[in-house]
Amino acid sequence: MSNVLVLVDHTAGKVRKTTAELLTIARRLGEPVAVFVGDGVQEALPALGQYGATKVIALTNPELTQFLVAPKAEALQQVAAKVEPAAILISSNAEGKEIAARLAVKLESGLITDAVDVQAGDGAGGPVTTQSVFAGNYTVQARVTHGTPIITVKPNAATPEAAETSPEVEEFDVTISDPAKTAKIVDSKPREATGRPELTEAAIIVSGGRGTGGDFGPIEAFADSLGAAVGASRAAVDSGWYPHAYQVGQTGKTVSPQLYVAAGISGAIQHRAGMQTSKTIVAINKDEEAPIFELVDFGVVGDLHKVLPAATEEITKRKS
Ligand code: FAD
Repeated sequence: MSNVLVLVDHTAGKVRKTTAELLTIARRLGEPVAVFVGDGVQEALPALGQYGATKVIALTNPELTQFLVAPKAEALQQVAAKVEPAAILISSNAEGKEIAARLAVKLESGLITDAVDVQAGDGAGGPVTTQSVFAGNYTVQARVTHGTPIITVKPNAATPEAAETSPEVEEFDVTISDPAKTAKIVDSKPREATGRPELTEAAIIVSGGRGTGGDFGPIEAFADSLGAAVGASRAAVDSGWYPHAYQVGQTGKTVSPQLYVAAGISGAIQHRAGMQTSKTIVAINKDEEAPIFELVDFGVVGDLHKVLPAATEEITKRKS
């Protein structure tokens, strides 16, 4: 069976859920080989084995973490030359997409970004991806026709499925050229933890819009009762009610959770563009004509300041 490379997304060895999703997808296509960059490979090993990595290639060259993405693309090129993978899967975040693009140029391979699903296809032609394009108005299926398929996959594209393996670690020494070392990281600090899941990876998101009137208290309380992330419409962000990092939509984050709850959000096309691939959509809006109701699975016509606290109370009661 051919190898499928998965670039591991981690923080100091703590593997993110997106990597479990990529490993699950990789198993549909071949034998998952995880590529781990930086320190902490031993901490990461159990999580990588849990989701079926058959082998872990560890890249510990310090230049890979001292400089911005170019060295990582160069390193992956060298790993690909050795492993000759059937496909390369990378998380669809800002860094992942930049690495993927640089790698595609180096390998002279086709690149597909933001896949929401990847299937093996008929085998001979390589993996078939599904993407939501043109602000979510079209769903397309695509496959790479030249070189090694490089695919960036959006969070929540697959449900992680356990497949206990005991991967061996292979240290792999790469050579980083000077042109790749053009942007050095001089400082970095982790974002202040909110205690909530990362917006783009969360299984549940509760978003608030102008209808909150600036009070995100009910949104946050409801999100916390569900273990959800908090999002916001651009109207709420532009009003200074919530930080820009939480904006969902065309000019914000694109999310695809299992459950998206939109409260006090009208459903403008630019907001939909960032959330309409969510598996289940629920809206709370006091205007029954609000466009958001066109795409919901479940809608509540009412005042969010009454509906959300009541729902939070009920969920908390049922949990205890
Ligand atoms: P509104 O459209 O004002 O809707 C507020 C809703 O709250 C209404 O439906 C109202 O009935 C309801 N409401 C009011 N009070 C209550 C209450 N007490 N309880 C329940 N419901 C209540 N928007 C984004 O969100 N993300 C983007 O990335 C984005 N990018 C854009 C890019 C461009 C180039 C442009 C031109 C626009 C973009 N927008 C984006 C803006 C977008 O067009 C809308 O203006 C915005 O989404 C509206 O936000 P909203 O739904 O919160 O506010």
